Amino acid sequence: MSHAETVHSPSTGFLHSVESGAAVDGPGVRFVYFMSGCQFRCLYCHNPDTWKLHDGREVSLDAALAEVAPYARFLKFAGGVTVSGGEPLMQADFVGALLGEIKARFGLHTALDTQGFLHEEVDDAWFEAVDLVLLDIKHSDPAVYRRLTGQDLAPTLAFARRLARLGKPMWIRYVLVPGLTDADADIAALADFVAGLGPVVERVEVLPFHQLGKDKWAKLGKVYELGDTPVPTPEAVARARALFADRGLAVA
Ligand code: SF4
Repeated sequence: MSHAETVHSPSTGFLHSVESGAAVDGPGVRFVYFMSGCQFRCLYCHNPDTWKLHDGREVSLDAALAEVAPYARFLKFAGGVTVSGGEPLMQADFVGALLGEIKARFGLHTALDTQGFLHEEVDDAWFEAVDLVLLDIKHSDPAVYRRLTGQDLAPTLAFARRLARLGKPMWIRYVLVPGLTDADADIAALADFVAGLGPVVERVEVLPFHQLGKDKWAKLGKVYELGDTPVPTPEAVARARALFADRGLAVA
């Protein structure tokens, strides 16, 4: 399956939405840009309305910067800016320019929320304007990863190794889905990989699956396979977290 419709423009991007007071997308309070476009089709995606790049609102770089400007003084001490999606690397030129200007004009902490598949689109210098990468690794088994996302696992793992080489701080995110991503052996294999990346991994976030995106799938006329999947029990979440913590990782 291929959904690799990327755009190459540092001056024009496609934005799904923004959120001015997010508390779960990086350290502190975040202003979040949700970029449109994603080449994954995760079974549990809660933002399927971000998938099509050109469904987003077309914005100039200046217009995108004007959205964060009123909050900049507050964000300077309270948190920072996160660029999420969708998949922001589908618009790497625009997102790189946006992050660079956010640093240059406002001096804010920046985070990139990505699944990393397209990391080869950008060179190492691109990451100079990124303080933290929130890296989603959706499964440790390539076959299940493909069933879950429609894409290959290898580029994401290569990206994690690249970030480790660059010394770029990372938070690893893992969505816990009963019957799909909750097998102890699979989580342990991922935890071994993540622990091997070294101290650049500042924390691991185990995110319990939820059904909040279900209605969006229906509205878009898409078949949602996980309609009957329960949320994980608190015990299952605790067990998954322990598998990461047992390897010396800081877990949230
Ligand atoms: S990578 Fe994120 S936005 Fe893309 S399909 Fe998966 S969950 Fe949805």
